[in-house]
Amino acid sequence: MDLQNNKELPKVLIIDDSEINIAIVNEAVSDEYSFYSAKDGLEGLELAMRVMPDIILLDIMMPGISGYEVCEKLKDNPLTKDIPVIFITSISESEFEEKGLSLGAIDYITKPINPAIVTLRIKNHIELKRSRDILKQLSTIDGLTGVHNRRAFDETMNREWMRMMRLSKEMTLIMIDIDFFKKYNDCYGHQEGDTCLKAVASILNNCINRSSDFVARYGGEEFALILPDTGVDFAKKCCANIQQKLADQKIKHIGSTASEFVTISMGICSIIPDSKKSTEALIKMADIALYNAKKLGRNRFETNSFPENV
Ligand code: GH3
Ligand code: MG
Ligand code: MG
Repeated sequence: MDLQNNKELPKVLIIDDSEINIAIVNEAVSDEYSFYSAKDGLEGLELAMRVMPDIILLDIMMPGISGYEVCEKLKDNPLTKDIPVIFITSISESEFEEKGLSLGAIDYITKPINPAIVTLRIKNHIELKRSRDILKQLSTIDGLTGVHNRRAFDETMNREWMRMMRLSKEMTLIMIDIDFFKKYNDCYGHQEGDTCLKAVASILNNCINRSSDFVARYGGEEFALILPDTGVDFAKKCCANIQQKLADQKIKHIGSTASEFVTISMGICSIIPDSKKSTEALIKMADIALYNAKKLGRNRFETNSFPENV
């Protein structure tokens, strides 16, 4: 779901073989929601994938695949697993409600459908879903700098590692550390230090291009860039660009011996992931490159590569 796009109406999908139920729900919600309907499970699953509804109302008894199976399939699919599902049951099916809830449905409503109640339930569950999505998004953002946090970094590293391994494509990790940052805090105070961290984060954010490129605060005054489907040559250009953008900002740093302004050191490592290597090893290799950049005088980037046939 797009959190920014509030103008678009939330989408409701009903999967039910009864024309009457579809008509009742349509009548009840169509003013405030975009309404979609499917008359059997397969069509419903296909439509769910296509429109990515905010909520699904699901009949249990349907010809073809049952509502339970549809629910299981929705919950098994990473794309649809977080869409709230409300089962529609008849009174005689109420003993099956427990089964529905245990399959991951969030609620149930009983037939005959009461339009006022169905509207309220939909509204409540969509609001709850929105809050969950916002919380989830916040929990992956670093509060100070607004870039992703360490937790999001770990998740993205693992995901991109697997994805690039599947595609046999190269990925690059760049570790970034502000030079003499302890001295910066000592000279200008912790608050100015925070402002400097925000400035560096913002430059990093502006220097990435593709939607799969990823910036995180790795910890303290260290940042990391994950560049999927990117080799070392482009990564070097990226580092040079970041270095230039930071130099352009001319943030005074009297405590640094590398420059009169704030600078960073960067360590680059590129690799085509395979099962004999690991994300931990990639981080370690980039860290060694970063360490070398520090040792060689800071305000520079160095590369490191995995030894052949290891
Ligand atoms: P080097 O050039 O070798 O990287 O030296 P350095 O001083 O940057 O490295 P060191 O690891 O010794 O110090 C890092 C400093 O970063 C220490 C810590 O106070 C500061 N720091 C870490 N997190 C924050 C933060 O959130 N805000 C501020 N203002 N400072 C921070
Ligand atoms: Mg450090
Ligand atoms: Mg540092």
